[in-house]
Amino acid sequence: MARKTIFITGGASGIGRAVARRFGQGGWFVGIADINEAGMAETAALLPAGQSSCHKLDVRDRAAWDEALGACAKAAGGQIDVVFNNAGIPIGGGIVDLTPEEIERTLDINLKGVIFGAQAAYPWLKASAPGSCLLNTASAAGIYGSPGASVYSCTKFGVRALTESLDGEWAEDGIKVRSLMPSFIETPLLDHAPNRASNEDIRTRVRGAGLEITPVGEVAEAAWAAVHGDKIHTLVGKTARRLAFASRWMPGAL
Ligand code: NAD
Repeated sequence: MARKTIFITGGASGIGRAVARRFGQGGWFVGIADINEAGMAETAALLPAGQSSCHKLDVRDRAAWDEALGACAKAAGGQIDVVFNNAGIPIGGGIVDLTPEEIERTLDINLKGVIFGAQAAYPWLKASAPGSCLLNTASAAGIYGSPGASVYSCTKFGVRALTESLDGEWAEDGIKVRSLMPSFIETPLLDHAPNRASNEDIRTRVRGAGLEITPVGEVAEAAWAAVHGDKIHTLVGKTARRLAFASRWMPGAL
């Protein structure tokens, strides 16, 4: 069987890096895409030699998506089976305190970048169907909202909507569209998540509220299962599962 290929945005850090390692261990070729070149090289060094390529990509740049996917397919030997639309940034703060620039940047990276990724991925996924997959990182904040991070939450509801819409739209092409719904995951994102309500460290606040921070390896396993399984959304972490249950949101029933 030919080696399969996954293209991962946000591959220089956190969830993207962990998923790169998981698919690398599974024998896949991994295209690592990010704006952080040093981080991409660190991820590549964790993968078997000759099994990855790095692509500088700002997900807000539609033309750069085509270039990066083309270069990845060339390095991988011709095809791309999974595009993992994962790059994202945190944004906290009360709605009235956010500047127009902060709002625009968050929408551009977390939502428009994911839409661009879907557009650019389509011809590649269609060519490798059936069994190809667009995997998006949404968030538990895309299930029940996130007081104090409303704009971030809006983008993640949007990613969830895109997943459900495209899964239907692309079904006849044999392309699956899936999303991950992680709650708090131990990644560098937690170091940068701004919280203007208090200077308290986010980890302290999360644990103080009786919630858990989940090891990043769980997301990697969830990504592997999502690509190989039938569930449209995968909740990751106890907090995500508990909150989905409390809000009576039924993933997979959609
Ligand atoms: P992270 O900060 O470790 O990694 C994010 C990566 O995205 C970084 O390497 C960064 O350079 C890259 N990136 C940022 N802007 C970019 C752009 N314009 N173009 C290309 N790459 C860009 O964070 P993470 O925790 O691994 O987050 C990955 C995804 O998971 C995000 O979409 C985030 O919203 C989501 N998420 C994270 C958590 C969590 O608790 N960590 C929970 C739910 C969802």
